[in-house]
Amino acid sequence: MRLFKLLIFLAHWGVTRAEPGKFWHISDLHLDPDYKVSEDPLQVCPSAGSQPVPNAGPWGDYLCDSPWVLINSSIYAMKEIEPKPDFILWTGDDTPHVPNERLGEAAVLAIVDRLTRLIREVFPGTKVYAALGNHDFHPKNQLPAGGNSIYDQVAELWRPWLSNESIALFKEGAFYAEKLPGLSGAGRVVVLNTNLYYGNNEQTAGMADPARQFQWLEDVLTNASRAKEMVYIIGHVPPGFFEKTRNKAWFREGFNEEYLKVVRKHHHVIAGQFFGHHHTDSFRMFYDDTGAPISVMFLTPGVTPWKTTLPGVVNGANNPGIRVFEYDRATLSLQDMVTYFVNLSQANEKGIPLWELEYRLTEAYGVPDAGSRSMHAALGRIASDPGTLQRYYVYNSVSYDREACDPACSAEHVCAMREVAFDAYAACLRAPGAAPAPRLALLLAALLGLRALLAP
Ligand SMILES: [Zn+2]
Repeated sequence: MRLFKLLIFLAHWGVTRAEPGKFWHISDLHLDPDYKVSEDPLQVCPSAGSQPVPNAGPWGDYLCDSPWVLINSSIYAMKEIEPKPDFILWTGDDTPHVPNERLGEAAVLAIVDRLTRLIREVFPGTKVYAALGNHDFHPKNQLPAGGNSIYDQVAELWRPWLSNESIALFKEGAFYAEKLPGLSGAGRVVVLNTNLYYGNNEQTAGMADPARQFQWLEDVLTNASRAKEMVYIIGHVPPGFFEKTRNKAWFREGFNEEYLKVVRKHHHVIAGQFFGHHHTDSFRMFYDDTGAPISVMFLTPGVTPWKTTLPGVVNGANNPGIRVFEYDRATLSLQDMVTYFVNLSQANEKGIPLWELEYRLTEAYGVPDAGSRSMHAALGRIASDPGTLQRYYVYNSVSYDREACDPACSAEHVCAMREVAFDAYAACLRAPGAAPAPRLALLLAALLGLRALLAP
């Protein structure tokens, strides 16, 4: 009898090992409802501002936010590629890059509603963990630390995906935590409203802990640890720096460090971090005091191809990207990450968008999985091997920008990936080759010391 149970256990274990769970992560859809193929280059899309858009195609343009057909195509491509994900992460930014005067509360809500309905229609019954982006508010970026009519109405739009407790929390601060469905029941997704720490948010300026979100996060992670649960953290604006523009810190002063502190304290229960906002494909490492990798944050590319107008960014467009994670349902550990994309100029030439595999993380960087040790090794290769750096750089823009990444470019990317805290990032930029050598040297010294003690 006992043997029989053991066999059942082994069979089950074999199955779960053989077949990882899968989930989608999409972000920054940025619908431009007024996109149209026009002969007049100034009439194509409001999201291009005053830039002319010559030869615009039906599937979109690198100077514009997404036309509806592109977004529609991306959600149906998800259905085609992986129709039965365990769940979907959707990290916000639904509206076009246009001045506030062209939008309003009703227009923002109508777009959130339209995208919500599309995702529910294509994936009925699939659990979606959705976050607000800095563009999903009116006026943009000004998400308050307390209740308001936009949080109220979005909570109602997302009611099918939320527990009653989450709805109440969302209405107060647009953050919540939900259990993972089905086989992954031993875990939770924490959806943060990091727009509260965004430098452009005037509503929360000067607040020590807006909406007491950090206090809440601390409680959630402490409870997860007690309950022996693992947690995925998701949100829109990531802490740290934008790898394409020197010194662009997204979080207001002090909050990068605050976030890093939380990750260092609770990394045992954090199985993954997933953010958007950059529209580019990158990742961020988290290290403990000894320099050992303890966690990794994945930044997913946008569906919108929109060429950013941020100062300092030379060629800031990207191809539309979507991605699937493969994970162990029992431990939530990340096994792999697979990014799919559409080559937008080809789609317009051929008249049809072809969603194809861009890369599989383990193959691209020669690592066994997507855990923090593996990503630390991947970063080591990106920092030291020009071929790997160039591969990373092409993926960073979803295979749009194929220029060479020179040493200054390399330093910006590697330092942004390596250091989330302000001072460490600035030090890394000053001496990109050196970091994190001091910590590594300390670690080596500690290990050697330990070996000396243990030696017979
Ligand atoms: Zn965005």
